[in-house]
Amino acid sequence: MEQKLRDILKTNRSYINNGKLPTYIPELSKADKNALGIYISDLNGEEYGVGDYEYKFTIQSISKVVTLLLALEDRGPEELFQFVGMEPTGDSFNSMMKLEIVSPSKPFNPMINAGAIAVTSLIKGSPEEKFQRIVDLFQKITNNPNLQINENVYLSEKKTGDRNRAMAYFMRDVGVIKGDVEKNLDVYFKQCSLEVTCKDIARIGRFLANDGMLPETGEIVIQSKHAKIAKTFMVTCGMYNASGEFAIEVGIPAKSGVGGGIMALVPGKMGIGVVGPALDDKGNSSAGVKVLRDIADLYNLSIF
Ligand code: GLU
Repeated sequence: MEQKLRDILKTNRSYINNGKLPTYIPELSKADKNALGIYISDLNGEEYGVGDYEYKFTIQSISKVVTLLLALEDRGPEELFQFVGMEPTGDSFNSMMKLEIVSPSKPFNPMINAGAIAVTSLIKGSPEEKFQRIVDLFQKITNNPNLQINENVYLSEKKTGDRNRAMAYFMRDVGVIKGDVEKNLDVYFKQCSLEVTCKDIARIGRFLANDGMLPETGEIVIQSKHAKIAKTFMVTCGMYNASGEFAIEVGIPAKSGVGGGIMALVPGKMGIGVVGPALDDKGNSSAGVKVLRDIADLYNLSIF
């Protein structure tokens, strides 16, 4: 298995050159453009890591899946979907265009920035409690008690996040977000700045592949109906406005982040974490997408 994964890394390394490091969060432009790693964690307890699987990067948008799970547990789908929709946008992840064109106004889905900011605001507790609950959930499902934020990326996001700020203030104006906008945004910036490796995101994938139950202990952390909702959003909106193409070419639920990570899973089988910080024009890891395509091809993983 490891040799096959190494071959896949080798074949796809050149796709790094099709990507660029993001600069809109200045600290992310300091990432290692050439890092490329894979980690697979399956439900039988087998784990395989190749390439730069210990490379650390910030989780960014992949965190949106976990905060969605927490908000679903806190509020239930009926209440949550009053504030955020279920449809793909076809626009970029940080677009604000569609916020104003639907009535009543609400973000299209929880995977775009506006939707994720709204979801984070729905998590119960004071801002400090919210963030602690998010970190606790991450630590539990990754089985990594050392998970913490990258302070430099967090401060960089906070300083330059005016587009997110604009959307959040707009959403408060239309009643999607309640309370202190800056404090809510601060939780969102922090959740995006959590520092992870491929192994951590593969474990999140495996947890979802197991429908919200920790495979080692059998503990049900998230109700399976909520895990299903999150996996469905990963298929329809997880790879930004390339989600349709990814579903056709790869065919497994996946969520990417501008830190270069992609968290993917095969229901009932495994979680897969991939990192490659150079991003294509949609914001997905340029080599990471190709690596996942080859893994899915080789092991016939498409769910469709
Ligand atoms: N923190 C990033 C932002 O708000 C997350 C974007 C992403 O990974 O898609 O722009």
